[in-house]
Amino acid sequence: MSTIFGKILAGEIPADRVYEDDRCIAFRDVNPCAPTHLLVIPRKPLAQLDAMEEADEALVGHLMRVATLVAKQAGIDDFRLVVNNGAGAGQSVFHLHLHVIGGRDLSWPPG
Ligand code: AMP
Repeated sequence: MSTIFGKILAGEIPADRVYEDDRCIAFRDVNPCAPTHLLVIPRKPLAQLDAMEEADEALVGHLMRVATLVAKQAGIDDFRLVVNNGAGAGQSVFHLHLHVIGGRDLSWPPG
């Protein structure tokens, strides 16, 4: 089942893309919770982190490297990566995504 992120990948709905390659894209979150709030998503439609298999390890590592790259590109050295796994953890779009959040002081622990 295609999600809104699947539609962004297919070019069916617009997104403010900041990065793309053969394995993933990154774009601005439409409802940012910080001055920098980017989403990194794989082209492969993994629903969530726990759908990941051993064969996906390189892909997920790549997503983390791209998250670092787009943070640097946005001019921030300090940032937080968030992956919500499951509705009870706040996941609302069931296509794996890494939130890259920064540009302000971030408190800990998160809600
Ligand atoms: P999560 O709650 O972890 O599933 O995060 C989903 C994120 O996707 C939220 O931060 C939303 O603001 C964001 N989002 C939903 N639709 C869009 C969209 N069309 N373009 C960009 N970001 C979106």
